[in-house]
Amino acid sequence: MQMEPQPFDRVLSSMCTEPHPVAREAAERFLATNPGDPGTYRTVSALEDDAIAILGEIAGLEEPAGYVASGGTEANVQAVRIARERADDRRPNVVIPDSGHFSFHKASDVLGVELRVVPTDDRHRADVAAVRAAVDEETALVVGVAGSTEYGRVDPIVVLSEIAADAGAMCHVDAAWGGFVLPFTDYEWHFDHAAIDSMTIDPHKMGQAAVPAGGLLVRSSDLLDELAVDTPYLESTDQATLTGTRSGAGVASAVAAMDELWPDGYRGQYVRSQNNAEWLAGALEQRGYAVVEPTLPLVAADIPQSTFDALRAEGWRLSRAATGEVRIVCMPHVTREMLASFVDDLDRLESR
Ligand code: PLP
Repeated sequence: MQMEPQPFDRVLSSMCTEPHPVAREAAERFLATNPGDPGTYRTVSALEDDAIAILGEIAGLEEPAGYVASGGTEANVQAVRIARERADDRRPNVVIPDSGHFSFHKASDVLGVELRVVPTDDRHRADVAAVRAAVDEETALVVGVAGSTEYGRVDPIVVLSEIAADAGAMCHVDAAWGGFVLPFTDYEWHFDHAAIDSMTIDPHKMGQAAVPAGGLLVRSSDLLDELAVDTPYLESTDQATLTGTRSGAGVASAVAAMDELWPDGYRGQYVRSQNNAEWLAGALEQRGYAVVEPTLPLVAADIPQSTFDALRAEGWRLSRAATGEVRIVCMPHVTREMLASFVDDLDRLESR
């Protein structure tokens, strides 16, 4: 049976994208390799070291440690796990803004930590006073988001890291989506800017690698040791990842994409995506829609439910933020022509 994947030409809601051709090719070549068993699958294991080295460079980490995870969810779960292992308390808490990804709720469930979700401010960034009020001596981790899923906003990471340090807690930055655009902005978001202990930064989102390629980085390799378990039947002796067997395709494609695109290709893509987001925001505003300013390449706008439904019926893949705005993520596959055609459809459907 011949099946084709759905094309990307009307996908506006996803944080994944068409892999770069070199990433696709590398993924195919390494399809049958397992970096979960590095003693046996040595080439892909060496490639994973390369992936972490480049991710470290992107994220301002001088001696990078980490691994290529199945995605941002795994990386976030593992960051919470590290913090829990480091905490002495029987049931530590994790403080997170309400813009945090739902993967932290999974982490809380499976790891038995309390999640203290605090409000965001009127700019959709973590409310620093609320974070400060929620943190106490049982806080194991303070989470900041650098490129939020719903509005593409960046929390005040430096302040959050100071609050964490004052409380003796760890600080995790979720840059799963933002990590490949933030290097070209003025935001202070990475290890060199603040006392950050761990970070999620996913090649399979703005990094243009093939799925599955998430990234977990930690400030020092002893933090990974918190995750390690013995692996008696493998050629290697221990394993820090959450999954056992994992995809060499993700690892190889991440290296291929980053080798090809870091930094100039990603810079060019950021500029294109950001310009597209600003163009779309302007076009929607002109038509009277309330728009959340796209500080990164993600536009959120109030579009009535009936129009939203009609657009979806025409094949546009769209989703809503929890507060109702329609999110349009300007990923690499989202071109100006595609957005112009989206706006044309919007006009036609609104005038019916
Ligand atoms: N963190 C952020 C900020 C995200 O936007 C996402 C997904 O969009 C995730 C984590 C989860 O990543 P994944 O779906 O790769 O597990």
